[in-house]
Amino acid sequence: MQRPASLALFLSLSLGAVSLPSHAAPNAGPAAAKQPVQVQQIRNATARIDYAGKTFLLDPFLARKGAYPGFPGTFNSQLRNPLVELPMPAGDIMKGVDAVIVSHTHLDHWDGGNHQFIPKAIPLFVQDEADARLIRSQGYTNVRILGDDTLFEGVQLSKTGGQHGTDDMYANKQLAAGLGKAMGIVFQAPGAKTVYVVGDSIWRSEVDQALARFKPDVILLNAGDARMVGFTGSIIMGKDDVLHAAQRMPNATIVATHMDAINHMTLSREELKEHVRQHGIQDRVRIPSDGDILKF
Ligand SMILES: [Zn+2]
Repeated sequence: MQRPASLALFLSLSLGAVSLPSHAAPNAGPAAAKQPVQVQQIRNATARIDYAGKTFLLDPFLARKGAYPGFPGTFNSQLRNPLVELPMPAGDIMKGVDAVIVSHTHLDHWDGGNHQFIPKAIPLFVQDEADARLIRSQGYTNVRILGDDTLFEGVQLSKTGGQHGTDDMYANKQLAAGLGKAMGIVFQAPGAKTVYVVGDSIWRSEVDQALARFKPDVILLNAGDARMVGFTGSIIMGKDDVLHAAQRMPNATIVATHMDAINHMTLSREELKEHVRQHGIQDRVRIPSDGDILKF
C-alpha cells in the first residue's frame, strides 16, 4: 500500500515540475515541439516546402516564359508554356533545398533534364521505377522511389494515389499512356502540421482514403481544371473540388495552386477567388500568387 502511493506522488510531482515551464501536453517532449511549416508558391505546381527544419522543392519546372510549345490536344494549345516568368531567379529557388520531390514527369512538373539549376547529386524522390529511370538518364545520381512510409531526415513522406484524368480518358489507350500516373505526397513530423499534396489528380477514392487516413491540416490542391480537347471532364481538380475539400475537411486549410501558368488550365485564380467568396469559404482557402509565402 505504502509503496504505490509514494510512487504515484513522486510521478505527479515530477510531471508537475516538467510541465511548468512549457505548459506542454503531458506527453510532449522536445521532439514534439512545435515545428513551423512554410509553403512558398513558385509557379504552376512548383513550391518550396519548409517542413520540420528541411526544405523540399516540389515539382520543379524552371524554364523561362514561353520556352516550350503548348501541350498538343489540350485547351489553348496555341499558347506557349510557361505562360509567365518565375517570380525569382531559378538559382534563388534552389537555395537551401535539401531534397526535390517530383510527383510525375510531365514537363510542367519536371523539366530538370533541360537545364543545370538542380545539383545532380541532390536527393530526389519520384513515384516509381519508370520516372526514376528517366531522371537518372538525365544525370541525377541520388534518385529514390517514394514509398508508403519513407523517412527523410526526420520527415515522414508517404506516397498517395489518384488518377490524372477521367475513366473515359483512361479507356483510350493512347491518351492513358500520355496522362500516365501521378502521385500525391503526405508530409508528417512530430509537432508539425500534416501537409497533403494531392498532386495531379481528379477527385477519386484514393483522395478520400488519404484524407481519412492522414487527416491533413493543410491540403495543396492542383486546381487549374486542365482540359483535353474532345473529352469532357478535367485532368486535375477545379473549383468544385476546392469546395468539396473545404467541406470534407472543415478544420483544414486548402491551398489552391497550378493555375495561371500552363496553356490548358481553364480556371484562373481570379475566378477561384470569386467562387470561394460566393461559398463563404474565403478564410479556409488560400490562393497564393507566384512568390507568396504561406506559414502554418
Ligand atoms: Zn500538371
